[in-house]
Amino acid sequence: MAKEEIRVRFAPSPTGPFHIGGARSALFNWLVARKLGGKMVLRIEDTDLKRSSRESEENIKAALKWLGMDWDEGVDVGGPYGPYRQTERLDIYKKYTDQLLAEGKAYYCFCTDEELEAERQALLKEGKMPRYMGKCRNLTPEQQEQLRAEGRKPSIRLRVPADETIVVHDLVRGDVEFDSNGIGDFVIVKSDGIPTYNYAVVIDDSLMHITHVIRAEEHLSNTPRQLLVYEALGFKQPVFGHISLILGKDHTKMSKRHGATSVDQYRQLGYLPEGIDNFLALLGWAPNSEQEIFTMQELIQQFSMEHVAKNPAVFDLDKLNWINGKHMRQLSDEDFMTVAVPHMEKAGFMTGKEDTAKQAWLRRVILTAKNHVDFGAQVPQVLSMYFTDEFDFENAEAAAVLQEATVPAVMKMLFEELPKLSPVDGPNVKALFKKIQKTTKLGGKAVFMPIRVALTGNQHGPELAEMVPLLGIERTLKRIQDSLTKAGIKF
Ligand code: GLU
Repeated sequence: MAKEEIRVRFAPSPTGPFHIGGARSALFNWLVARKLGGKMVLRIEDTDLKRSSRESEENIKAALKWLGMDWDEGVDVGGPYGPYRQTERLDIYKKYTDQLLAEGKAYYCFCTDEELEAERQALLKEGKMPRYMGKCRNLTPEQQEQLRAEGRKPSIRLRVPADETIVVHDLVRGDVEFDSNGIGDFVIVKSDGIPTYNYAVVIDDSLMHITHVIRAEEHLSNTPRQLLVYEALGFKQPVFGHISLILGKDHTKMSKRHGATSVDQYRQLGYLPEGIDNFLALLGWAPNSEQEIFTMQELIQQFSMEHVAKNPAVFDLDKLNWINGKHMRQLSDEDFMTVAVPHMEKAGFMTGKEDTAKQAWLRRVILTAKNHVDFGAQVPQVLSMYFTDEFDFENAEAAAVLQEATVPAVMKMLFEELPKLSPVDGPNVKALFKKIQKTTKLGGKAVFMPIRVALTGNQHGPELAEMVPLLGIERTLKRIQDSLTKAGIKF
């Protein structure tokens, strides 16, 4: 027999911003498909009619594309097992529901929300697990008729066998057991005719020939219900792999408190898709080696579900920044400009309508940020000194640097020599600092630190040899003079 083709799917509910956890699930599936020459299916689970929107679906698709993930079958691209949007598959679900009803494996339930809530409360009061106790399990056709005549709209429940242990064989978590008594007959079709997630997902995964269901741990507790549906319909189970929760750094469930949670927020902040993919892959998966920076190709080669851990993955923003910064530095100058320019425009540092000379200068300035930023929105922050000459000393320590007794001698020579520099470039600026050191017999730091503080207000930052040529002699000296005046230094 030919080896079974690997078929995975990503099945988001389009109910809001595309969460970083969803992107991680999509990525793990996509990596499995691409590594093993399988197929990736994108199915939209939009049965929550109130919360689902086309706008959210479009966001998800755009985010997946931005992250470099494609799909072989699914919404937009089609495929042999479509349609791929659940609300377009209602007649398919109905066929199976009719079958289950005819076989007595499912039944109509006429209980109202109020009745169900009362039952729930009563069970809770007795210290029992709330579940449906089967009031409508054995209604006769006449009783059903009567209830319909009262205007009640039934839902449909699956008959769940008592006293069974349901075992989920999980790729990541091993065998996980559930007691069927804790489940109770659950709704598979709501009174408005719309199937529930646990029901539709099984029919879809089965008819779409999904071999591996890789999804978030949140769904592990749904899986026994789904297994009951597989059994009732006589469908073959796929392999399940539930990937761990994503926690914030404080080990509580990742939420807005921990920073941006949607893919779009990171895109807007100027993170790179390759940085996000790299970071997401490491949220649960670990390679065999110490390697931390991966291209998408390397991830495809090295990824394997066998190395996905079951302990929770911690979302560490510092790590994301570090990884993204590494990818930023690998960008070509052209690509770096593409990332940086929108942020520079947003900050009001450029308009895109500058003359050629200004454009060339802007390009030189912007490219210096490449080694100093982790993501795009940081570019205007680290370059702000090129766009405003107003600044304060960073702190008292920085201000104190200018009070050193050696400062006037350094400044005197700088003001004499800097205007003579030609051309004003990095090597010449460095050479001048050496010359000042030699003449004043001071160490390197005693020369460049007061110059740096007077020029920027800061003890840290880009090299002076980088800044001075970009600011030009005139601006450099004016900024330094203003700081010295502010600090009361005469020379
Ligand atoms: N629609 C579900 C969700 O977005 C997908 C669950 C699954 O992958 O089975 O959470």
